[in-house]
Amino acid sequence: MNCIFCKIISKEIKADVAYETPNVVVIKDVNPQAPTHLLAIPKKHYSTILDCKDGALLAELFTAAAHAAKAAGIDKSGFRTIVNTNEEGGQTVFHLHMHILGGRPLGGRMG
Ligand code: AMP
Ligand code: ZN
Repeated sequence: MNCIFCKIISKEIKADVAYETPNVVVIKDVNPQAPTHLLAIPKKHYSTILDCKDGALLAELFTAAAHAAKAAGIDKSGFRTIVNTNEEGGQTVFHLHMHILGGRPLGGRMG
């Protein structure tokens, strides 16, 4: 499949891995929008959140995101998790992922 995140997971493309669980990988975003900008990505391909009915996997995604935020030292100051979906949601990579942003005040409550 011609999916950049699948290629990162299969190690065809390099990425800076911050944390990994059996079903989720957390990488540094290549174009960071904040001092800490991570992406928690399920290893299995789902195009969007609309396509994933696996509650255990979504729990693992949240847990991995929280762990990675703590490991990055942004848990106390605070951080934001975002899942963009489809065009008006601002999704550009169609492999489900959760942004983890922190390290600066993020402004408006919904960005
Ligand atoms: P979204 O707009 O929610 O689909 O987010 C896609 C994110 O993936 C963007 O923040 C990109 O900077 C990031 N991204 C794209 N290609 C790579 C890559 N090869 N390694 C790390 N992050 C990437
Ligand atoms: Zn994929």
